[in-house]
Amino acid sequence: MSNTPFRPGRHFLQIPGPSNVPDSVLRAMAQPVIDHRGPEFPALTFNILEQIKPVFNTESPVFIYPASGTGGWECALLNALSPGDKVLAFETGHFATLWKEVADKLGLEVQWVAGDWRHGVDPEKVEEALKADTTHSIKAVLAVHTETSTGVTSRIDKVRQAIDAAAHPALFFVDAVSSLACTEYQHDEWKVDVTVSGSQKGLMLPPGLSFNAVSEKALAASKQSKFHHSYWRWDAMLSFNAKGYYPYTPSTNLLYGLEEALSLLHQEGLDNVFARHYRLAEATRRAVSAWGLENICLNSEEFCNSTTAVLVPEGSDADALRTIILQRFNMSLGTGLGKLKGKIFRIGHIGDFNELMLAGTLGGVEMGLNISGIPYQKGGVNAALDFLSS
Ligand SMILES: *Cc1c(COP(=O)(O)O)cnc(C)c1O
Repeated sequence: MSNTPFRPGRHFLQIPGPSNVPDSVLRAMAQPVIDHRGPEFPALTFNILEQIKPVFNTESPVFIYPASGTGGWECALLNALSPGDKVLAFETGHFATLWKEVADKLGLEVQWVAGDWRHGVDPEKVEEALKADTTHSIKAVLAVHTETSTGVTSRIDKVRQAIDAAAHPALFFVDAVSSLACTEYQHDEWKVDVTVSGSQKGLMLPPGLSFNAVSEKALAASKQSKFHHSYWRWDAMLSFNAKGYYPYTPSTNLLYGLEEALSLLHQEGLDNVFARHYRLAEATRRAVSAWGLENICLNSEEFCNSTTAVLVPEGSDADALRTIILQRFNMSLGTGLGKLKGKIFRIGHIGDFNELMLAGTLGGVEMGLNISGIPYQKGGVNAALDFLSS
């Protein structure tokens, strides 16, 4: 017998990923494992590869690895670049910083543009840095689309325009881990060379899969790469995927889940998925401002559909609030990462999520604020409900 008390009802998993997994996806993953070299497997592979392309808005190959998002970052860098290559990257928050550290460890030279963790990638700074690079020594531009640590979504279309305005040939790498299937994303139209993503955010799956969507230009660059590596090779993925297989054992049951999750996304319609995320995010922002608290994101053009990061007043402890809410109401909220530790909490409104789940989530936050003694104004939940029912 466990000492843990029984907690009736569902746990509210309102961190910005891993997100809630729909019951039908959980059931799909409970199917028996099949032979990944057997005759049934190609149908699964082909169906997934066909259904996933419209999620990235691409005609290019999308490679699926048994890995977390961090593996997807490393995969992109190893395949398309060479040791010592220079990359241009932007300090939008914790995830941008982690990706930069992967690049550092691989022996790339990172030109790091400092940021305040309250704004996305500044397209003007992209243009400026690339125009200054007259010898074209920068081989790639790295941008995080939705910076999950701050709830700020960079304007990737504008960053693309800045690269074009500088007439610079650098590859363009984008982390869309927590924006994919939450916010419009255009791999082809924005001429992104590698889009990195992961399973546990908008794709509504457990952690364990990472993705690289890869342009022709990036595939061509991979043929010149001087990095030594094996597990991440795009060329092996490309040739095995063409026959419906993988170079090594794929995560079969996560792929069952992915097939079902993609089918749910297409049933709802991606435009409806984005509109739902926008509506729930906007309701959350209205609650936050009614509470008299501050959203970390300062630019309304960079508001985020996936998560809202809320600053607590100076002298208050956001993690103490999160603990109260977990213990009293069985809800997990996102912690402050890196230099925002203790200063913010993050409300995830991502993936399989609806109005009443949001009402419960915001209700839990408002009750937690009341118990914690953090100075705030009542009425956040009402402001959100008014918006959702208008
Ligand atoms: C979740 C996330 C990742 C991936 O992190 P893992 O823990 O390696 O799965 C990368 N980038 C962003 C923006 C994320 O939100």
